[in-house]
Amino acid sequence: MLRLTGNSSERVFLNDMMNKSGQRLLECLQCGKCTGSCPVASPETGGPRQLIAQILAGMKDHALTNPMWWYCVSCGSCVTRCPVDINVYELATALCETAAREGITPSEREIHLFEDLFLKSVRKYGRVKELRTVALFNLMTMNPLKDMDKGIALMKKGAIGPLEIFRAGKKDDKVERIFKRVESTREGE
Ligand code: SF4
Ligand code: SF4
Repeated sequence: MLRLTGNSSERVFLNDMMNKSGQRLLECLQCGKCTGSCPVASPETGGPRQLIAQILAGMKDHALTNPMWWYCVSCGSCVTRCPVDINVYELATALCETAAREGITPSEREIHLFEDLFLKSVRKYGRVKELRTVALFNLMTMNPLKDMDKGIALMKKGAIGPLEIFRAGKKDDKVERIFKRVESTREGE
């Protein structure tokens, strides 16, 4: 396994990622157990093992534009199976914050809008209202019929109901407290 081959700024990047994520990336065995169990690993994303390999090899630009960490759903399968307990979700968060700070355009151009709508839905209704969130996203990105076929398939299976879009839902005080705590933490940074 090729490690620490980048220039000094790229070595700084590796150390930075280890410090920010709290993960011992130098212990990675490149065994691929994480990728084998990751629900979003695919030829397009490459999977968590490849993402870590890029960071270890000092490939900062590749790592920061890799779609893998955007797609991470923080399911924890990687850390559960990893022989050295590397949590890729923590790494994905560190990469996300670094890319945002350095003004790197996300691989999914509208991802910030989707994230914003997702969080607003959770804050307002106590959970994400999928249909409403996706419908709003499609309208705001001028693509109202996007993924319509998948939506119809999910409705036929009863996974989502068309009336969900109109139901008000209930605000959850506990969820609101979590949002307030995160906001106050950010203000203090
Ligand atoms: S499972 Fe752990 S050790 Fe194996 S490649 Fe993934 S992060 Fe590295
Ligand atoms: S936490 Fe992220 S990287 Fe790890 S298995 Fe789940 S989706 Fe994949």
